[in-house]
Amino acid sequence: MKYGIACANGTVAMHLAMATLGLEPGDEVIIPTFTMIATANAVTYCGAKPVLVDMEPEYWQMDLNQVEDKITPRTKAIVPVHIYGHPTDMDPLMALAEKHGLTVIEDAAEAHGAEYKGRRTGGLGHAAGFSFYGNKIITTGEGGMVTTNDRELARLAWNLRDHAFSHERHFWHKFVGFNYRMTNLQAAVGLAQVEQLDTFVAARRRNALEYNCRLHGVPGIRTPAEAPWAKNVYWMYGILVDEKEYGMNRDALRRVLADHGVETRNFFIPMHTQPIYWKQYYGERYPVAEDLCKRGFYLPSASSLTLEEIEYVTDVIRSVAR
Ligand SMILES: *Cc1c(COP(=O)(O)O)cnc(C)c1O
Repeated sequence: MKYGIACANGTVAMHLAMATLGLEPGDEVIIPTFTMIATANAVTYCGAKPVLVDMEPEYWQMDLNQVEDKITPRTKAIVPVHIYGHPTDMDPLMALAEKHGLTVIEDAAEAHGAEYKGRRTGGLGHAAGFSFYGNKIITTGEGGMVTTNDRELARLAWNLRDHAFSHERHFWHKFVGFNYRMTNLQAAVGLAQVEQLDTFVAARRRNALEYNCRLHGVPGIRTPAEAPWAKNVYWMYGILVDEKEYGMNRDALRRVLADHGVETRNFFIPMHTQPIYWKQYYGERYPVAEDLCKRGFYLPSASSLTLEEIEYVTDVIRSVAR
């Protein structure tokens, strides 16, 4: 992308990108319900309403067939989230956005280096937000970035990031800006991390392949898929457990792994079931997201994972399968 606006973290990168749109109370932004809380909160910070869509069951991304039904005269933007490092199917989404005059802001916090038809995520929409938190593919400890090719959007984001100082007169403010700056120390770490991105992505893809091979044929275990048009960077290597076929449910398997010293984590909890949001979505159901939440968890996924460690983890999973 032509412009990168470095930020204090990924959440404020998403907020900053949305703040450039001048959203007003009552405006709507379409997001997937199955995401990390910051996606929805960034919309809420702007006073707008996150409008939800379910996921498609194959790659666990936003279901594009449901997006158009959710567009109203108040819709201003669509935020696809490249969940767990797999890209969203962006071409149809961009066509839809164009048809309705909407801005697309990618949440690329989990997808550094991922590709869609050979093009990198974070460069597919009108703008994108990245996170460089400690558990992301590259990190500055805390950090984030807005990326865009839109010069006006970039200019506004730079200004809003830094208290919206006006150009004609310092300490003179025509917008309510923020302090979302990244420190130079973090930026130095980030530059060194970017040099290693390809190495980290290659390691994650190698690890995912190893997991896939070792879990192949284990009844009731569904491994992550990769679309023919996608390069998945496997920020998190997630699996789904079918209780009947596998012989125990997700939570029981996680306990077995914990007893063997393997830390795992459950999938996201959908936005429409969150204590801070459920009243807004009372009666709305998103069955794919709910199923992912119930049956999904991720295995150790760090770039530094060794093949021996993967063998150990998968041996435990195989040994207790029905
Ligand atoms: C991590 C993450 C964020 C937030 O990033 P922070 O740097 O932790 O603020 C936003 N969206 C998604 C999808 C994330 O995974």
